[in-house]
Amino acid sequence: ADLSALIKAGLRDVPDFPEEGVVFKDITPLLAEPSSLQAVVEGIAARYEQAEVDAVLGLEARGFILAAPVALALGAGFVPVRKAGKLPRETYRASYDLEYGSETVEMHADALSPGSRVVIVDDVLATGGTGRAAVELVDKAGGTVVGFSVLVELGFLQGRRRLTDVEPHALAVV
Ligand code: 5GP
Repeated sequence: ADLSALIKAGLRDVPDFPEEGVVFKDITPLLAEPSSLQAVVEGIAARYEQAEVDAVLGLEARGFILAAPVALALGAGFVPVRKAGKLPRETYRASYDLEYGSETVEMHADALSPGSRVVIVDDVLATGGTGRAAVELVDKAGGTVVGFSVLVELGFLQGRRRLTDVEPHALAVV
């Protein structure tokens, strides 16, 4: 079956989560279905088989779930990008604005060797703030972003406008 249709069928809309007025896309039904989980991991990995990827960056927390098996499929390493204060060693930091306040993410400063070819993976592309910050972290570490993939893009938020340099790919757009 068509991968985009499979993903859309595996998403649940949760109104007013995490706050009033937001319709949250819950991906847990998709993850729980073995054939869907396998199809999405293969769908992401297939795009980068020829890309000589050194590292797959997963964005906390749902990005981890997808990035680790994609890394295995590509014979690449897994690198976590975490919310501020979680990583124990020296880090690079990048911040982005939220509707109220801001968010900071971090990556270990020694996680990438200079020139590393990196794919960034997350579950959902919304406003693009998290993705923008992840690209900044790769830049700070001297790596090259060769791919940016998400399961689902919330098209109406136009987050890809902030990521034109990495041309995000989404397996499904809603
Ligand atoms: P952005 O920074 O693009 O606005 O938001 C993307 C981040 O927030 C991603 O890490 C993603 O996990 C999370 N996120 C935002 N909206 C949703 C949603 O509707 N469903 C899920 N599963 N995650 C979301």
